[in-house]
Amino acid sequence: MARMPKRGPRRSENVLTRLWNRTAAKAVSRVDRPGWIYVFRERDLWKVGRTNNRSRRVREWRRVCPVRERQWVPQSVWTPFANRTEFLIHLAIERVCVSRPRFRCHECGKVHREKFYLGDDLGNAELILLIIQNVVDFVLTN
Ligand SMILES: [Zn+2]
Repeated sequence: MARMPKRGPRRSENVLTRLWNRTAAKAVSRVDRPGWIYVFRERDLWKVGRTNNRSRRVREWRRVCPVRERQWVPQSVWTPFANRTEFLIHLAIERVCVSRPRFRCHECGKVHREKFYLGDDLGNAELILLIIQNVVDFVLTN
């Protein structure tokens, strides 16, 4: 597979906090939908997304961007507000990531913006699942 750059834009703490607060202060959008929050990794890069049908989403990723090294984290988390939850999860992960590399994918030709490099720590899957559960709970109680 193509090389995966580890450097990339990561917004400042201030920007991320402002975006989080602004989103949390608003009522949940009427177009928000229930769904599963899923996680996979491609070597060092982690991706969190949302779907209302996990097995279909797995097939779509395989077809549209067939990266062989992709490994799915088996746990997905259900939320009634998948859009807001995914958005806030991306902010929370960006806060702890090393970088958010932006590169043209050699498999599908797209520029993936929402893959995060978290460093080599073996606990990254647990960290991401913890962030997901915390944000799901936050959205439900706010
Ligand atoms: Zn791709």
